[in-house]
Amino acid sequence: MLRIICSLTWFFSGLAFAGSWSSRGGEQLRDTGNPWFLGNTATVSFCVLVDEAQAGLTQATAGSLAKRAVDFWHLEFTKAISSTLPSFGPLGVATQKWEEHSCSGPEDESVDVRFQFGVLNQVQEQYLKTPASFAAISVRTDYDEQHLRAKGFVYLAPLSGRLAYQGARNKPQAGAAADRYYVLLQHELGHVFGLPHIGVWGLMAERIADTLDTSPKVPIYEQFFRQKDRQYRLCPQAPLLDVYVSVFGSGGTQRPCYRFVNQKDDSSSIMGMNRLSVFATRGDTDDGVLLGRADLHVVGSFPTSVFTLWFNASQQIFSAADLAVSGNSSNSVIGSSLLRVSKSGVYRSVDGATVNLIGQVFEQGDPVVRGYGTYQGEIIDLTF
Ligand SMILES: [Zn+2]
Repeated sequence: MLRIICSLTWFFSGLAFAGSWSSRGGEQLRDTGNPWFLGNTATVSFCVLVDEAQAGLTQATAGSLAKRAVDFWHLEFTKAISSTLPSFGPLGVATQKWEEHSCSGPEDESVDVRFQFGVLNQVQEQYLKTPASFAAISVRTDYDEQHLRAKGFVYLAPLSGRLAYQGARNKPQAGAAADRYYVLLQHELGHVFGLPHIGVWGLMAERIADTLDTSPKVPIYEQFFRQKDRQYRLCPQAPLLDVYVSVFGSGGTQRPCYRFVNQKDDSSSIMGMNRLSVFATRGDTDDGVLLGRADLHVVGSFPTSVFTLWFNASQQIFSAADLAVSGNSSNSVIGSSLLRVSKSGVYRSVDGATVNLIGQVFEQGDPVVRGYGTYQGEIIDLTF
């Protein structure tokens, strides 16, 4: 089985498993999908354990990758749509200060989160059953149901040795191993911060490890809730070429390739205006000649995924007033959600010959941007 199952929950005492555990493969099972920490937790302690020889990276590099992935989500969650409750206030996902401690080994449970690069203890190995079928996994080993605070470990498979991920079809190229670990850390920490699997191509896609291992270059995900400038290149072939020439013009080039540059007026937020600049190029690398521009303004937005936090009656952090916000439920509150935003505007070529109504649909957590234009009086799907 090549797929990775990224977030599991277990409860055990000593070496014997007790209680129930569940996987985060599809359905959300009560509190197993909760963020590991909320606003009532100020600091998270963590340690980093590395099998340097098999993982192919040093303790120092592993530690800096983990911190960088935590920082990534700290920044991203500032732009997430999230609840603010009457007495608890903002839910405070990914707001904690993470403090690095040292751990004596994978048995050491003195910290909240252990990052384990190529290292598993005997109990963890037994739990995973086939550890080499996991590229990475985050496992919640303990959950404080009163204060909604978890403990656990984030495991990353080493590049070589007995525990190396068996699903990898390409060995990471020299120098790419750190990038690969970083993306897997981003993904697993997304689960730690309460995100489920989302979409097919994004950072939280279930098959992220396979995407990484079949891509010629490790894709770096620089945004999730935020939206930065984007650039896209396309060489449309007939009959699609006619459509692109009709919508954007050709600048006199017979078979143009296109370079689309999407700039945000506010680089941090998905809302606001996008300025699209379209260039005709002769290949995949040249900057090309400016064909025209469009300012795309927000015409609609909609939350596509709304995540729910679950708890039982023993919880002590939410008041009756907080619970009343979620209607008739006394054991859940609304967490973060993802926003889909549609933007539209009029494209004008610099020579004045082409005017077209175009639009784009952006979705948080999804790197794919859907576009449309007007062709022969009809709205047509386009990529740009
Ligand atoms: Zn996952």
